[in-house]
Amino acid sequence: MAATHQCICGKAIRYRQDLTVDRSGTTRTWACVDCGTPVPSGVAERIGHQYPS
Ligand SMILES: [Zn+2]
Repeated sequence: MAATHQCICGKAIRYRQDLTVDRSGTTRTWACVDCGTPVPSGVAERIGHQYPS
């Protein structure tokens, strides 16, 4: 079951390349690659393992 996230900017986040990750803190913070809006970590962690086939 593939995870997806609909960003407020309208982008459908489906793959690792649709996310940016900030590893500067103790926890990873994921965000939309287009607009920088944070993506909930639960779904982002799953999407972070998905790549286009
Ligand atoms: Zn966005």
